[in-house]
Amino acid sequence: MESIYNYTKEMLIDYMLNLGEKTFRCNQIIEWLYRKKVKSFDDMRNISKSFIQKLKEDFCINRLNLVIKQESKDGTKKFLFELEDKNKIESVLMKNDYGYSICVTTEVGCNMGCIFCASGMKKKVRNLTTSEIILQILMVEEIENIKIGNVVIMGIGEPFDNYDNVINFIKIINYPLGLEIGARHITVSTCGVVPKIYEFAELDLQVNLAISLHSAYDDVRSRIMPINKKYNLDVLIKAIKDYVDKTGKRVTIEYILLKDINDSKTAALKLIDLLKGLNVYVNLIPYNEVLEKPYKRSSEASMRLFFDTLKKGNINVQLRKEQGSDIDAACGQLRSKNS
Ligand code: SAH
Repeated sequence: MESIYNYTKEMLIDYMLNLGEKTFRCNQIIEWLYRKKVKSFDDMRNISKSFIQKLKEDFCINRLNLVIKQESKDGTKKFLFELEDKNKIESVLMKNDYGYSICVTTEVGCNMGCIFCASGMKKKVRNLTTSEIILQILMVEEIENIKIGNVVIMGIGEPFDNYDNVINFIKIINYPLGLEIGARHITVSTCGVVPKIYEFAELDLQVNLAISLHSAYDDVRSRIMPINKKYNLDVLIKAIKDYVDKTGKRVTIEYILLKDINDSKTAALKLIDLLKGLNVYVNLIPYNEVLEKPYKRSSEASMRLFFDTLKKGNINVQLRKEQGSDIDAACGQLRSKNS
């Protein structure tokens, strides 16, 4: 049966219009589902019995199955959930000065094939539905008894390879009477699915966009990120520029530092050149080594030199601190060992 969490406001309103129901009830339903977190339609006390009956015939209010919860020394928590079809997914909860952030998964497996990433070692099995992405937030809020304020769409999967479900997810968690997660508190990260970057710019959602760049050289980038063979740096940078122009928003550039692959001073200078004049912010990410992969984290000295070089080149840059690496919850380490 269809999960009601798949339904955006527009979809609910359409459904209600078809039934001749008053559409203002839509906001009430959203409040029951996401604020009061009811588990049964019967608990929606201001909705007529007949409409509740109809809702029960057409939808379910479901949950995910928690399989394991692991906690890192730094307080980061990783949750392994089982879906209805027994596939497993992971979500990561982080606590920062500004509150709780969750990193959500968008696909079972991933087809992007970035060579350094553990998440992509399992080919894509299927897209997650909108409800399966939303339920990661609802479940973690319920289990931990907290309110999540920030969402990063950076777990397993390529969000722009599951575009429609991810967009509906963003819309739904943003509803004022629902989870009310502000657009500026949501970040979606893509490895560079260019046509979707253009589409995303048109939506003007005020959500943060992050691009996994990892090299300013086409040959290197194609080697470590196969998507570059389809959409090379020239095409990607044009799309980023278009996005910045259209939305007026700054884009985050993610750059993992991989020893001897992309971490030289020359590589930093090339990156400055590539990003010149673009309204971007560079997030340098220390590589989290993955057991089955030969790639190594850059030395402290190389990371420092790379950082300083970008700074001197007038690039806005920060060196990201990692969280949860001891439980394989850090970037690129998610892969559902237990599945
Ligand atoms: N598919 C999306 C989102 C998931 S990955 C994307 O590619 O952007 C989130 C970020 O973690 C990406 O920048 C990815 O390149 C990075 N990442 C992958 N493996 C990593 C690793 N082992 N160490 C550090 N970062 C990694």
